[in-house]
Amino acid sequence: MNFLICTDAEGISGVETLDAVMNTESPDYPHMRERLMADTNAAVSAAFDAGAEKVYVIDGHFHGCNFIKEKLDGRATQITTRDFAWAIKDVQAAAIIGQHAMAGTMNAFLDHTQSSTRIHHYRFNGERIGEIMQVATFCGHFGVPVVALSGDEAACREAERFISGISTASVKTANGRNKAICIPEKEAEERIYAAVKAGIENRAAVKVIKPKLPYTVTIEFNRADYCEEHCADYPAFKRIDVYTAERTVTEINNYYEVM
Ligand SMILES: [Zn+2]
Repeated sequence: MNFLICTDAEGISGVETLDAVMNTESPDYPHMRERLMADTNAAVSAAFDAGAEKVYVIDGHFHGCNFIKEKLDGRATQITTRDFAWAIKDVQAAAIIGQHAMAGTMNAFLDHTQSSTRIHHYRFNGERIGEIMQVATFCGHFGVPVVALSGDEAACREAERFISGISTASVKTANGRNKAICIPEKEAEERIYAAVKAGIENRAAVKVIKPKLPYTVTIEFNRADYCEEHCADYPAFKRIDVYTAERTVTEINNYYEVM
């Protein structure tokens, strides 16, 4: 069994401020990177202990320049989001580490979908979804279940709502959108290890999010100009009103096609 781990930053343990994930000049940012490696390595260890032969990891936050490479467990193979398309065909299960809830979630730390400034809501076939379902849909298209997720309490609840059978590790609770109360870091690593191990062991019982093609992606933006720019940059999107753009997905070959 080969395994794939996608990471984000907002749901990483010990990360409790906006600066930690958005401001590389802030003293909170290096701490986020340290914690990103600790959470990722907990997941990598669990995967190998659960019998994985190969483990791929993706540094998925922002431009993917957050990993401290020398601190990544040497048994794991780091790949980029661009490599997601071939790697997904070489794995049998996946996990999401450090995730946040979708845009528009109450009591969620740094809730957003792709862009907190630009995007108000994001929908697949009319249903509001976020980054969790984007990843799960891409994996599911290739028959791969997302078996485990770590993040704040709201991200865990969102994952459980969409992906029955998933194992989750909650490492913090939001206290207003931009502040979180984190559990102790060691305990967070233990929870992540346990969730990933249980997820792999129970993988046969986890729902595979296999999209029925074609389906519709609808994005509601916060401002008219954001919608205009998106339609200019991505001609597959048609503008349906001042704030909203829509497109039909007919095939999925790479990760960007589910977005
Ligand atoms: Zn994200």
